[in-house]
Amino acid sequence: MAEHMGPVTLTTHPVQRAGAWAVAVLAGRGAPEEVSRADLEKVVGRVVEDVCAAAVAGKDTPAYDWWKVLFSQYPNSKATHSKRSRNRDVLRPEVEGLFAPDSMTDVPSAVYGCTFCGRLASVVWTKTVLPMFDTSKALNTLPPRVAGWPVCWGCRVAAWALPYGAWVTAGSATVLTCEEPSAERVFAARMVQRAQRVIQAGFASLPATAHPERVVAMALRRLGPGLPSTAVLWTFKNDNQEPWLRVTRTRRATSRFLAVVDGRAPVRAGWHLLEEALTVRDRVGTVVTNGREAVARLLFEAEDGQSRSLLSQVYRVLEGRTDDWSPHEREALAGLAFTYAKEVLGMEPKLTAVATLLADWIEHGSASSRGKFAEYRKVALNDYQLGALLMQAQSRLLLDGHTPAAGPDDWAAVIGQRPRVWEQRMLLFAAVMQQLAQRGVAVSQKVPADEDDQIEQLVKQPILQADEDDFEEGAA
Ligand SMILES: [Zn+2]
Repeated sequence: MAEHMGPVTLTTHPVQRAGAWAVAVLAGRGAPEEVSRADLEKVVGRVVEDVCAAAVAGKDTPAYDWWKVLFSQYPNSKATHSKRSRNRDVLRPEVEGLFAPDSMTDVPSAVYGCTFCGRLASVVWTKTVLPMFDTSKALNTLPPRVAGWPVCWGCRVAAWALPYGAWVTAGSATVLTCEEPSAERVFAARMVQRAQRVIQAGFASLPATAHPERVVAMALRRLGPGLPSTAVLWTFKNDNQEPWLRVTRTRRATSRFLAVVDGRAPVRAGWHLLEEALTVRDRVGTVVTNGREAVARLLFEAEDGQSRSLLSQVYRVLEGRTDDWSPHEREALAGLAFTYAKEVLGMEPKLTAVATLLADWIEHGSASSRGKFAEYRKVALNDYQLGALLMQAQSRLLLDGHTPAAGPDDWAAVIGQRPRVWEQRMLLFAAVMQQLAQRGVAVSQKVPADEDDQIEQLVKQPILQADEDDFEEGAA
């Protein structure tokens, strides 16, 4: 290795990568490559102290929480094993031994290329000290004829700095990988701050906010529209029983979407309304589900396809709680849905004519607007029934002497089996709501006097701001 190179390399492995960023933040450096040997020694000192303090902590103390974190990632290490020494002076040299710099002279025959970064390594590690290795869900499998994975000094420290750079719980860790390093840096800085709180005062000291999805969303919003990049969250548990790995990712255009939402006042209001709508409180008013976290989570898609989409959630709150929304609020939510479809899904829905047909039919005609709206609402996502309703609306308008705004050619986009037809129907519903709001057709009870004030307040708030008890901006 060249002399000028620091001991830490940023690789593509999510565990090493998160750890390398944590090392950089702990060392007060801008990036892992800037970490010097002296920096790394200091980081080792800190990691060793924290590990030893956690390993000797009493079970009922807050300091024991960090031990749970370590146990979930390195269940059979010397520091976490049930038979570990409870004497710090005995434990310290054992833990320090894990992080000794590589020796290139002692056993030249036993020098390999590091599993992560490829630089020379004199130490071979096994899964007892490496998270997410050699498990059924492993990110790696062991190369043949090797007693473990060669891991260089920098990567060994990174592997144990991981809990500082991850969103940790007592049983799992979540790390971020992103094409855009500045987002990773922001994430790591927040997590290091959070880890410090856990180490000092335990999980009970943490605010129930700023989950990893929202931290990433805040970082992506900062990137602005010019830097499309996918953010991937890897959540895993490495304990003795059932190791698992869950992966969720944002679509590339998410940063642009967030910039557009933040830049357009009515859409911004839609974002805040969705946050409000997804907030769940118990009987005494305590927040059970934080809507801000919930909306940020909607930006991520699970690999198994089991995640909820932002579009379907907007539809759900528009459709399921029609009576809760004033006309302006409905327009704001519909605007959010259309912005998401355009910016994130790349859709260009042409639904104005069909929405106009439905709005005309709801507004005019013999029965009450509210009744006809309820009829449409019931079939809004049903292929066959929606088709039948559109036919009926068209004939009704013709019979009553109106000119229908749309015919079967126009509604082909929302009927039948075609890509994104489900999304088209949800957007159609939003478009109908929008038109009815603009025409002043009442389909719900709610017309509060101070409605405009409320919307104005929401419009003023930027999205994805840190909460009061979130961490300070940029602090590490
Ligand atoms: Zn390495």
